[in-house]
Parts: sequence; C-alpha cells; structure tokens
Amino acid sequence: MTTGTLDRTAAAVEVHDVHKWYGAHRVLNGIDLTVRPGEVTVILGPSGSGKSTLLRVVNHLEKPEVGYVSLDGEPIGVRRNGDRLKELSERAILAQRSRIGFVFQNFNLFPHLTVLDNVAAAPVATGRLSRPGAVALARDLLARVGLADKAAAYPRQLSGGQQQRVAIARALALRPGVILFDEPTSALDPELVGEVLAVIKDLATSGTTLLIVTHEIGFAREVADRVVFMDGGRIVEQGPPSEVLDHPQHERTRDFLSKVL
Ligand code: ADP
Ligand code: MG
Repeated sequence: MTTGTLDRTAAAVEVHDVHKWYGAHRVLNGIDLTVRPGEVTVILGPSGSGKSTLLRVVNHLEKPEVGYVSLDGEPIGVRRNGDRLKELSERAILAQRSRIGFVFQNFNLFPHLTVLDNVAAAPVATGRLSRPGAVALARDLLARVGLADKAAAYPRQLSGGQQQRVAIARALALRPGVILFDEPTSALDPELVGEVLAVIKDLATSGTTLLIVTHEIGFAREVADRVVFMDGGRIVEQGPPSEVLDHPQHERTRDFLSKVL
C-alpha cells in the first residue's frame, strides 16, 4: 500500500487480531476493532485489562507480536500467520503517528514552553506550518478550549483541567484523523473533570473521530456511538451505550458496571 493515497471509504482505525505479550505475560489476546470516520468509541474495562496497551499499539508506541493496525486503510505490522507486511520506515511511522492525536492521563505538556508554544510547536517542527501560521492556529485552538487568555502562561501556572485542555488543543494542532484519549480526567480533582469532558464532548459533536478510554460512564452514555468493554486483553462485548451499559450481556461487564456506576 502506498503512503499518501488515503482511502476515504476506509475505517479511520482498524485493529486486526492484535496480540501483545511481555515475556509470558499476555496483555492483548486477539483484539479486533473498527473505528469509522466520525465515530466516538469509548473503551471501558478494569485496571490491567489492556486498554492503555491497545491505545499504544494504535499509536505505534508498541508493536504487536501478532496482528496489525490500519489507519485510513493503510496497514502496519505483522499478520496473524506470521506473513510479514511490508515494514514501514521510521519516517512512515512518524507520518502515520502525526495523523493520530494522543491525550494522556498526566497531560505531558512541555514544562519549559508557554501554553501557546506547546500548541504551536508540532506544526512547525513537522514543517506543516510557518511559525506565524502555527501561532495563529494555536490561538484559534486555545480559544476553542476556552484558554485564549492563557497563551503566555507556563503549564505549572495552570490547573490540571486547564493543562488537559491545552493538551487537547495541542493534539488538534496536527489536524489528526483520530484522537486517542487515555483516561483524560483520571488525574483531575473532581471539580475539574467537567470542563475537560465538555471540551471532548464539543469535539465529539463536531465529527472528530475519537477513541476514548475512560471510567466516566455518564459521559460514555452521552457521547459514545459505541462502547467497548475489555477484560483480560479481550473485547468481551461492544455495542451502542444503550445495549452495553443498560443491558450488558456478560457477567464480567455487569460486575464491572456495578463497581463503577
Ligand atoms: P489498563 O490500561 O487497562 O489498566 P495496561 O494496558 O496498562 O492496562 O496493562 C495491561 C497489563 O500489561 C498489565 O498487567 C500491565 O502490568 C502489563 N504491562 C503493560 N505494559 C507493560 C510493559 N511495558 N512490560 C510488562 N508488562 C506491561
Ligand atoms: Mg491504562
């Protein structure tokens, strides 16, 4: 498959029978997942079920032992039977990764850069925009997440909720085809959770493709097109929130929901 020819009809993200292990420890045990363009998918599951590892495989921060991931129909990795797909160069992997936004639990902002530069840095570093173009975009994105007045501040001067909103603006700056969120509100004080969820909800309703790991069940019910429940490195069940959250078919899903609701 040639890089650069985007298949507009393809899934935004497709995970094909992905297995991941560390020594004898099996972390992902055959994950198949399709995220269509514009779809909002929420992944739920107990601690240790492999949610973060799955996001890291999608973002090419981890390489699966078996299976592969496609972005916009473009595959990377190895097939189940060991047939090797053409390995992508480091450069092609970086190009793919720049089409994916990643928002972490702990924000991971650059502490030595202002809020504005946190958002403007990547479009300049990747050669996509001139510095003035990136600054203009960063100002627009900061306004979108409600932080226009914090452009000159440094991350340490912001609350956790504000820092996470900067991280979302930074992810948007590369105009990604999909944004992955790994427990974006888990590190926040309870009173700051709502402002971050409101920003993610705004992205969801504006048609951005989102793959979100969260324990916020109410939020999942409101914004998810699809809820995926993982346990033991497997997808136990998936479907619309009205099915998975309100009428779970599996005992493990019911047990999990009874603990987090
Ligand atoms: P979750 O995000 O659902 O809590 P993770 O994907 O972080 O789960 O982890 C799943 C399992 O994989 C855990 O048991 C964890 O200890 C293990 N794991 C994750 N990363 C590594 C690693 N780099 N080396 C060894 N084990 C790992
Ligand atoms: Mg995790």
